[in-house]
Amino acid sequence: MKIILLGAPGSGKGTMAQRLTNDLQVPQISTGDIFRKNLKEETPLGLQVKDIMARGELVPDEITIEIVKNRLREDDCKNGYILDGFPRSLIQAEALDTFELIDCAVNLDVDEEAIVKRLSGRRFCPDCNGTFHVSSLENETLCPSCGGKLIIRADDSEETVRERLRVYYKTTFPLIEYYQKQGKLLTVDGNGGIEEVYARILSVLKK
Ligand code: AMP
Repeated sequence: MKIILLGAPGSGKGTMAQRLTNDLQVPQISTGDIFRKNLKEETPLGLQVKDIMARGELVPDEITIEIVKNRLREDDCKNGYILDGFPRSLIQAEALDTFELIDCAVNLDVDEEAIVKRLSGRRFCPDCNGTFHVSSLENETLCPSCGGKLIIRADDSEETVRERLRVYYKTTFPLIEYYQKQGKLLTVDGNGGIEEVYARILSVLKK
């Protein structure tokens, strides 16, 4: 299955994508993870996107589209994939339609208040790309999955979170209508615990 996960920053796309990846045996393609890897390795792309990401803005469409287009051509994407964080603009969605036939777009619908709460307590593992919330961690510094050192993402600072939400509502939110018009939108209540939300996703995908 070729699935897009839509939703505001902090709506749980990454966590749900990792679950789906394991269960459906298809790769998770996260543009955020791709950019962060390049940042960490200080590649030319990483240096190019560093300030943009730190400000909470979007990387230019043409760069992002090219990266995704190349990634989806790889062998492991033949039987499907979970797109996490792409597309994020109408231009990206229209471009995607020119080279891929998507099955559905799952929109994780989460209250804005819950989002701010989630992001402000978020911890990230740069080793396995796992995302956790302080409330569920016994040890706030070590990753429960791989033992790596947990960090607070630079773009999870309050000011950047506010900018990311602003960008989301202005540029990404219209994608909900875009996929609705295509008859591909599946809306899932993203409020609540991980297991609860994941069960809702599986249930809409089965239909
Ligand atoms: P994420 O981990 O998905 O929240 O992405 C982190 C940051 O990477 C975003 O705030 C953007 O700066 C950049 N980014 C990720 N995906 C995209 C995309 N599809 N288009 C443009 N920028 C993106």
